[in-house]
Amino acid sequence: MRRLAVSLAGLATVAIAVSGFAPGPSAAAPQIDPPQFDPPRTDSAPSYYSLKLPAGLTVADLVRDGYDISHGHGSRPTLVATTVEADRLRDRGVILGKTGNVYQPVIRSATAGTTYYGGYHTAAGHEQHNAAVTAAHPDLVRLYDIGDSWKKTNGQGQGGHDIQALCITKLTTGDCALNSTGKKPKFVLHAQIHARELSTGELAYRWIDLLVSSYGKDAAITQLMDTRELWVVPMANPDGVDVVASVPSRPILQRKNLNNSAGGCPAADAGVDLNRNSNFQWDPQEGGPCDETYPGTKSVSEPETIAIQGLLDKLYRDTKGGVGEPAAANTTGVFLSLHSYGNDILAPYGYTNTAAPNKAALVALGKKMGGFNGYPVSTGDGGVGYFAPGATDDWLYGTRGVPSYTFEVGGGSGSCGGFFPAYSCMDSTFWPKNKGAFLYAAKAAATPYGTLP
Ligand SMILES: [Zn+2]
Repeated sequence: MRRLAVSLAGLATVAIAVSGFAPGPSAAAPQIDPPQFDPPRTDSAPSYYSLKLPAGLTVADLVRDGYDISHGHGSRPTLVATTVEADRLRDRGVILGKTGNVYQPVIRSATAGTTYYGGYHTAAGHEQHNAAVTAAHPDLVRLYDIGDSWKKTNGQGQGGHDIQALCITKLTTGDCALNSTGKKPKFVLHAQIHARELSTGELAYRWIDLLVSSYGKDAAITQLMDTRELWVVPMANPDGVDVVASVPSRPILQRKNLNNSAGGCPAADAGVDLNRNSNFQWDPQEGGPCDETYPGTKSVSEPETIAIQGLLDKLYRDTKGGVGEPAAANTTGVFLSLHSYGNDILAPYGYTNTAAPNKAALVALGKKMGGFNGYPVSTGDGGVGYFAPGATDDWLYGTRGVPSYTFEVGGGSGSCGGFFPAYSCMDSTFWPKNKGAFLYAAKAAATPYGTLP
């Protein structure tokens, strides 16, 4: 999701801090134990609900009041709430229908430490994988440390991570040199900037494996690796992934990075939304320090944003003028930022309903990718019901002209819906649906505004 209000789920203390909640005896939240390994389910575990609002109350009102509500394309809004929060909404006249559980039954993985929640990879799991494929395929993979996470920068040596990027191609002289002048067009896949969007990092993991295992075996992928630089950032927010994975069978709903320097928030609500922190249309109105869409004290305030913008700035030349001017017809490259959920492809601009100057071409390419995963394409707040100023994809298109998209992976309900789909959904739906879209995007990177493949 690109716009979510304060995550209330899982931590009862949060509700008291959110505007719109009146603390008092009747609002006293039940005591929740601090996170621990495999805690028992409590009666305030979050669930998904459909909403029917009374006259005079809108979804936007509830989002401003701190509720975690999302829209899938063409579908009704979905609420993530604990039983306490659901009761408060019922008191306001909202009719709620429970549509599913946030948590799915988990089959414990045999590789504790590198996986959690049935098989999703931890930050350490991704880092081991990145190192392993780089070591195993020196002719195909270059691994880069593109910067530090907030905790590594500010944590006085207490944890944190390098942000890692892989360049995958059949390496020849001048390839993967972190510049915009190489001869191979560049496709960048960017995942888990919102840490709780579990399926996204896993899709990046599988994409890496598909590429390195297919060279010389699959003719189409071999050809792609001979002619493209395929960049992958599997975890744009690794500190957040550490929090999400800290309770292996019941992941934490951590969206933002771990920057708590603004103060005044419960620990669970602190952090900056890295997908609101770019310096294209950055908007301080997006939220305060405790909100899930807090854009930071200024644009590019976060080390993770510096790392990602720094990488993309090196990889892509600027072929575009101002906000209203189109990219040059010979622009190369495609960028995908993976998010969940909603089964959507979002094309620029996401900060406004004013059409991007290349809108027709951006939508045309989006529809081609949608032919593989079945997701419809929308722009502005169409389909999702919110704007996303300061997002990564708008920044790259808006400032460089590179076709850039958000994929919202998965639906809003069922065992494969929401933030925490069962791991089996990777095999049953997410990977088979999106693999073709990624391959297509890579192919299209040569002439994204020209004749599409
Ligand atoms: Zn997201």
